[in-house]
Parts: sequence; structure tokens; C-alpha cells
Amino acid sequence: MTEELFLRDAYLKEFEARVVDVSGREVVLDRTAFYPGGGGQPADKGTLGVGPINASVVDARREGGRAVHVLDNAIPETVRELKGSLDWERRYACMRYHTALHVLSGVIWRNFDAKVTGGQMRPDRARMDFSFPGEWAADVVGEIERLTNEALAQARPVKVYELEREEALKNPDLIRTQVNLVPERVKTIRVVEIEGLDTQADGGTHVANTEEVGEIESTGHKSKGRQHKRLEFVLR
Ligand SMILES: [Zn+2]
Repeated sequence: MTEELFLRDAYLKEFEARVVDVSGREVVLDRTAFYPGGGGQPADKGTLGVGPINASVVDARREGGRAVHVLDNAIPETVRELKGSLDWERRYACMRYHTALHVLSGVIWRNFDAKVTGGQMRPDRARMDFSFPGEWAADVVGEIERLTNEALAQARPVKVYELEREEALKNPDLIRTQVNLVPERVKTIRVVEIEGLDTQADGGTHVANTEEVGEIESTGHKSKGRQHKRLEFVLR
């Protein structure tokens, strides 16, 4: 099992770890700060190295309980320990976008009774899909943008904690965001709560306060059928 350091500290930029396995350009570590991708958030990039050995991490993924780091070059199989360093600018951008998506999700539920059906973030843009019964016009999108920016500017703390599965299943916000879809073998649910607005089961990395996000700016909206709407945005 790889200890996933980012779950407890999203702001960890550098770490040291023991090598568990090396196979070609792929390295498994006993602990990592690299997010392996998932939940709409892309995998981190950065570097792994020791002494004269240094490689770029071009991708990462989970395999069972292990975090596999994909390098641009193979490193010697004799290496026992490595120092990892994230491409922090990229990761921090993903954190800001991820928190923005949760705020947007909370606003769309609170003000429009609409549920999110999917979301995806990149370091420079994001999009969200939801089931929205009303008309999908520019003024509605403008209103969503305004309300989201208002909620972001309220400097709401973003809290991350764990709940026992049974506790989580009693929380109406978590039910709404489909905590019941988390596989039954998972007994402890990681919760990301944007104070007073949105509570979700989530494995991603977030900023500590919504004021770190800044403002969203809509860059496009699409209607993909009567109920399925999409909103695309950038942060500024
Ligand atoms: Zn999320």
C-alpha cells in the first residue's frame, strides 16, 4: 500500500519516500504526495530524484492500493530512496479549480435545485455537467456565475475529514451527492465540506478557503438535451 500524503495535507509540495518497486519507467513508492488522478482531477506531474539521478513524473495512477509514478526516463533499479517534488503551480491550479467546482455544485443545488452529473478540471479550465430542467440561456448562466463568485468571496473554510460509512449515510447532503455509490467495502468516507454550502464524499485535493479560488468566468455553455446542461469556465 502507498500512503497517500495528499489526503491529509494538500499543500505538501516535497517529500521523501522509499522505493517499493521499479519496472522500466514505472516506480512504486511507500508514500507519495502525487495525486494519482480520479474524480475529475488529473494526475500530478513533477520530479523524482536522488543525487545525480533525476526524472520527470509525466503521469501517475493507482493500481490496487499502490501509487504508480510514470517517469520520462528509467531510473536504476538499485535506487532505494527518492525525493519527490510536485509541479506545484499546476497542482495548485487544479486545487483551485476543484474547489470552484464544488462551490458551483453547491450553488446550483441551493438556488436552482439542479444536481451535478459530472465534472472535469484541468490546470487552466474546468467544466461541469448537470441535470437542469429550466431553459439554459445566457442570463441564467450569468446568474450562476454571479452567485458562485459571491459564495467564493465569502471566504468559506474548506474542511476535510473522515466519517464512518454509517454516519455518512445519515447526512442528507452526502446522500444527495451519492455517497451510497462509494463501494461498500469502503468503511471510512473522506468528506470535503465547503462551510455552509456543499458537502461531498471526495478524494481530491482542495484549497483551504474559497478566497484562494478567486473568481470564475464562464467561457461557454451548452445544452446537451432537454435536461443535460454544461458550463465551462476559467478562473481569474
Ligand atoms: Zn470533487
